[in-house]
Amino acid sequence: MRTAQATRQNLTAEVLAAAVVDAARGGWQHRGCLLECIMNSRYWTLAKRPPPPWPDDATFALKEAPIPAPGPGQALTRTIYVSLDPYQWGRKRRGEEPEGAPCHARTVSQVVESRIEGLAAGDFVFNTNGWAEYGLMGEGVPRPGYMIPRKLDPASGKISHAVGVLGMLGLTAYAGMVLQCEPKPGETAVVSAASGGVGQIAGQLARLKGCRVVGIAGREEKCRYVVEALGFDACVSHLSPGFPQDLNSACPDGIDVYFENVGGAVFDAVLPLFNPGARMTICGMIAHYGDAPGVDARAQERSRAEARGVHVRNLSVGEYAADWHDAFLAEVSPWVASGELRYREDIREGLEVIPTAFAEMLRGENFGKTLVRVAPDPTLTSQRG
Ligand code: NDP
Repeated sequence: MRTAQATRQNLTAEVLAAAVVDAARGGWQHRGCLLECIMNSRYWTLAKRPPPPWPDDATFALKEAPIPAPGPGQALTRTIYVSLDPYQWGRKRRGEEPEGAPCHARTVSQVVESRIEGLAAGDFVFNTNGWAEYGLMGEGVPRPGYMIPRKLDPASGKISHAVGVLGMLGLTAYAGMVLQCEPKPGETAVVSAASGGVGQIAGQLARLKGCRVVGIAGREEKCRYVVEALGFDACVSHLSPGFPQDLNSACPDGIDVYFENVGGAVFDAVLPLFNPGARMTICGMIAHYGDAPGVDARAQERSRAEARGVHVRNLSVGEYAADWHDAFLAEVSPWVASGELRYREDIREGLEVIPTAFAEMLRGENFGKTLVRVAPDPTLTSQRG
């Protein structure tokens, strides 16, 4: 067994070799600090506690720390993709992240050094490195219980999909739309934040189940995409002054299924259109993520819908991960592979842009599932040079 020091020396050599290869390919983002940064992992942490209602320029701080050495049952991994998701803001506002720790996120990473059986240097994994260049996975590494690290097979699709359509995000859409709302052919299904990570998948699942699907999105460009590329029957903009009337016109037979991602004024427009016996899943309520503590917007929305006879379900994807992940993948992967279910990613470049990309996503300035590529993705042929 190697000593800790020897491990560290080998690790440094491997990391350096990888970085030099990246630099030669033109993929390394920070050539200027290649050598001085190589021993450290940079990461973003929350600078202000408690954070403001919505993130601003001073909310996060960029730090660095020595790259950790993996202990028994652990692997050191280099982050490739960081997933940016609205729920991450809720965690910060609720104070769930330890002070000074890297901001939590699901990631796609490559193994640098492994002390986990069955996992070798070079393997790709789904894990939770957070907003950081490197991280450990395996025994004793804290993570949300249902975010179980796993090895990825790059031959079976894009590795970025592991934090998207073929991961927790896709399962969210599947659990909310297919399992909770049980859409039937001919019904009208409405999805808010329809061009976003979850919404684009939820709406297409309803289409594949035979529904007439109406999206709600922001910019015109997003609405066009939802209809023309994703095959929704209609999409209306919540930014339009005539939004409630537009939604009414787009749903001449009322609403049977509603997939809620937003809340606020969007829900106000949906509420009068529900048919008796309609089903609704409250997946998320992004319009309320800056609300003052103590206001339970979810409970309020639920009781308003139930007062109209709507069957309301709350959605927490973690409750479906153990029992449904495999069934979901078996049903949805072939649709993704065949192109019947399309999936748009909004990929930003470089660790530095994470706070800006995160704030933009919360404001609707993303277009598709938001990811940040913090190291080159060696599985993309265009980067093989
Ligand atoms: P998105 O990619 O959809 O990005 C968020 C989108 O929300 C923006 O692009 C914007 O779209 C829309 N938005 C933001 N603010 C408002 C507003 N005030 N009014 C109307 N629309 C707004 O994010 P995700 O797909 O990652 O997440 C979608 C929802 O799913 C979130 O609420 C999230 O919390 C929830 N979620 C829940 C899970 C669960 O287990 N229940 C798991 C994963 C996600 P536009 O420009 O079209 O307005």
